[in-house]
Amino acid sequence: MKITVIGTGYVGLVTGTCLAELGNDVLCMDVDKKKIENLKKGIIPIYEPDLETLAQKNISAKKLKFTTNGEEAIEFGEVVFSAVGTPENKDHRADLKYVKLVAETFGKYANAYKVYVNKSTVPVKTGEICEKIIRKEFLKRKIKFDFDLVSNPEFLREGRAIKDTFNPDRIVIGTKSSHAKEIMGTLYKPLTDKGIELISTDIKTAEIIKYASNAMLATKISFINEIANFCEKAGGNIKVIAKTLGLDKRIGPHFLHAGIGYGGSCLPKDVKALIQTGKDLKYNFKLLKAVDEINKTQKEIIFHKLKKELKTLKNKHIAIWGLSFKPKTDDMREAPSITIIQKLHQEKAKIFAYDPEATNQAKKILKNIPVTYGKTPIEIAKNADALLLLTEWEEFSSIDFQKLKSVMKNPLILDGRNFLKKNILKNFGIKHIGIGI
Ligand code: NAD
Repeated sequence: MKITVIGTGYVGLVTGTCLAELGNDVLCMDVDKKKIENLKKGIIPIYEPDLETLAQKNISAKKLKFTTNGEEAIEFGEVVFSAVGTPENKDHRADLKYVKLVAETFGKYANAYKVYVNKSTVPVKTGEICEKIIRKEFLKRKIKFDFDLVSNPEFLREGRAIKDTFNPDRIVIGTKSSHAKEIMGTLYKPLTDKGIELISTDIKTAEIIKYASNAMLATKISFINEIANFCEKAGGNIKVIAKTLGLDKRIGPHFLHAGIGYGGSCLPKDVKALIQTGKDLKYNFKLLKAVDEINKTQKEIIFHKLKKELKTLKNKHIAIWGLSFKPKTDDMREAPSITIIQKLHQEKAKIFAYDPEATNQAKKILKNIPVTYGKTPIEIAKNADALLLLTEWEEFSSIDFQKLKSVMKNPLILDGRNFLKKNILKNFGIKHIGIGI
């Protein structure tokens, strides 16, 4: 099929690349000129395992192309995906300005029947808003042909986005048109042929599924963090508790790792946006308000533990391992490291940081805070009064801990992800403080 993808962020670029790999002709469009110039040359703007290889392969094969021209992009595809950002507004609602702009561009330039697919995470009833915008443009142009609207929310996880796109747990297609459903069914046939379930529903249900899914994940994290905080008062080991809970098939093992809270571009904003949509519809999401509140305080827990250990942080050398909101991505959006670094800076600590992939993103986001970025985890720990592990990158488990102990001024690790083994570190003479263990 001929496919257009509008927006070449984490979702759009991965979707475009994977659809090209499945044999479609894909044209990706973005308003970011620099990004598109680079993408045309095969330069990928984000770190995502396997994305570069797969994108370059399909660019060379001319299955994957890029443009900044909205008219060309809309005319190209039989199916047009909108995968633009829906960031958090000042009032915590999802900002729909990019989504609305894409609908308007579609309405202005569609030159034949097409399926308009919304892949971005959008509040319930956004489909109706987009449909109105498109119809208004069609009316202005006195268009005779029609279009169909589909909600096809995205569930990929950064760090394993390619794997998730080829092997999703499910595909959701929300539409009132049986023709559009058929076209989407054909597009996703290579995946449904492998046994992946396609849930066919109405647009509103599809829109709510995405928020419900992220709200559930956030709830699991805040839940286990509450139990971890309780363990600190009561005694008990959260790792053993979480593992045991996870063995119960009704609960499952995922998203039950206690730590410094959830971050990233999705869970924080989506939980808050759902609460606001509830408010707009006169529904009070009591549970989700607590989930959000717990997460806010959880991000600061490691800072308070550090202060308790060192008393004052003024001029203390604090080393930080890991900046991205989770491993295998360079995404710094809403990363707990930002909150913690801001607090360390307020207390006049000297901050040294290392991340295998996110340093460039961190430099942009933390440009007003003096942070010394190192090239190795050991380098930044030299003379450190404490080390904070904030992202569980695999390489931190195989550090030469003897060397680490010898370079640190005070061998103390505050492990915000309960990633390192207390007993092993104890053998090296390093004090380990985790969360709820
Ligand atoms: P992103 O910020 O990484 O990318 C958005 C892209 O859209 C940018 O490149 C931007 O330049 C482009 N853009 C903005 N306005 C445009 C316009 N009018 N025309 C063309 N391009 C335009 O966002 P993302 O992380 O890819 O997320 C996109 C959507 O998918 C969001 O709604 C998000 O909540 C949702 N989502 C994200 C993830 C994730 O892990 N990142 C997972 C599932 C769902």
